[in-house]
Amino acid sequence: MKLRDIYQQSDRPVLSIEIFPPKTPKGRSHLEKELKRLMRYPVGFVSVTYGAGGGAQSNTLSLVKAIRDQYNVTAVPHFTCVGASRQSVRNYVDQAIADGAENLVALRGDPPRGETVFRPARDGFEYAWQLVAFLKETYGDAISLAVAGYPEGHIETRDLTRSIQHLKQKVDAGADMVITQLFYDNDDFFRFRDLAVKAGITVPIVPGLLPITKYSQIDRITKLCGARIPGDLTATLVAFPDGSSDQQMAGIAAAVDQAGELLEADVPGIHIFTLNNSYATAHMVVALEHYFD
Ligand SMILES: Cc1cc2nc3c(=O)[nH]c(=O)nc-3n(C[C@H](O)[C@H](O)[C@H](O)COP(=O)(O)OP(=O)(O)OC[C@H]3O[C@@H](n4cnc5c(N)ncnc54)[C@H](O)[C@@H]3O)c2cc1C
Repeated sequence: MKLRDIYQQSDRPVLSIEIFPPKTPKGRSHLEKELKRLMRYPVGFVSVTYGAGGGAQSNTLSLVKAIRDQYNVTAVPHFTCVGASRQSVRNYVDQAIADGAENLVALRGDPPRGETVFRPARDGFEYAWQLVAFLKETYGDAISLAVAGYPEGHIETRDLTRSIQHLKQKVDAGADMVITQLFYDNDDFFRFRDLAVKAGITVPIVPGLLPITKYSQIDRITKLCGARIPGDLTATLVAFPDGSSDQQMAGIAAAVDQAGELLEADVPGIHIFTLNNSYATAHMVVALEHYFD
């Protein structure tokens, strides 16, 4: 099913999850177990990252196909412009469509490790809006596109007004929905959503949520992507030993509160970054299941 139809046709908020392609057989069998658990819940779609955090790009499409075949659920590949010429974009999307994909999360990607500035590949794209425009021009309505949004501004463009202008450019180029970067202060999301609506963005804006199960790990991720863990949440979590079950439960409780407040504020859905683990996501979904039934 196309992303745009999933949101248009649902009279309930849409629950979606993100996973990444494991690099090892052990990681693969772990993911299989975790996914099996997660697919007991009403998951609207699963998105699969592409080369995120320096990871492999090559397994995204095979994992997307395997999930679709096994669970008959909409599975959405991500794609970035990192190292991608127009021809390699075509190769990837042609393969995705041949495998049955109807959607793509279209991203620019981060500069490779050790570099601070993003350099487009030869005959490639400098910004995600150009990728979106190219995909629309090439594939029309055959694929529905999601793009990334940044409630706290993107790390390279902290100015929220400019960040919103750049988001508007991606939506005008043809994106059907926005999935946000992780954030922990809902006021940041509400401000961002208000500005987006004011700028004329009418597509669904879906908050991306990463429950904190190990503070040191998520603290590192937030620093890399320019998100912030509010001081009071940090204080609550660091009161427990790092990664302990007490810290995990406190992090999950905070994620349930955060998601509950967002769902009460009429978000079109929530997108949970699972990091390939079911534990926190399952707790969240069970606590919030009355929204998704
Ligand atoms: C939901 C989600 C999923 C993600 N999945 C992946 C993944 O699978 N793999 C991966 O590697 N990364 C992933 N990322 C991270 C993403 O690739 C990075 O955040 C990247 O730095 C920006 O990508 P973008 O598509 O938002 O880029 P863009 O929208 O192109 O923005 C990049 C920067 O350029 C600025 N900009 C945009 N347009 C213009 C313009 N016209 N003029 C001047 N400046 C401009 C923006 O403000 C921003 O600072 C994901 C992020 C999110 C939120």
